[in-house]
Amino acid sequence: MAILKIVEEGDDILRKKCREVTEITPKILTLLDDMRDTLIKANGVGLAAPQVGILRRIFIIDAGAGEDQHEIIEFINPRIIETKGHQEEVEGCLSVPGKYGVTSRPMTVTVEATDRNGKTFTYTGSALYGRCLCHENDHLDGILYIDSVLEMLDPDDVE
Ligand code: ZN
Repeated sequence: MAILKIVEEGDDILRKKCREVTEITPKILTLLDDMRDTLIKANGVGLAAPQVGILRRIFIIDAGAGEDQHEIIEFINPRIIETKGHQEEVEGCLSVPGKYGVTSRPMTVTVEATDRNGKTFTYTGSALYGRCLCHENDHLDGILYIDSVLEMLDPDDVE
């Protein structure tokens, strides 16, 4: 278990396309464990592998209720298979610290992915989690929310 360094905007690694995971090796499992520790420590909602310098198609989200109630969901080789509705809400990114902006996203997003045991599953998230699934999936293709942000906000105005 380790806390990984989060790469920040300006680093080329955040702009690269990630490769598929072809085999869930002990190294991948360690990466997932370390990403979990890193996300919880950073108090974030989601974290993608390129944000810790690894160009693999992996992201995790914390669907827990906050505080000490964490529910980490791991997505390997994720694919958005369905979206519904629309939202314009505030978004931030651990790789763009101290900044927030309003983005245009679907309201509800369904992702198909592989779990750490190699099993395929689907997960549907709405509102915050709809934004989060799109945001993390974009990271795997080198896309940041600031690329398509509708409006950047003054951090003092955001909770
Ligand atoms: Zn991000």
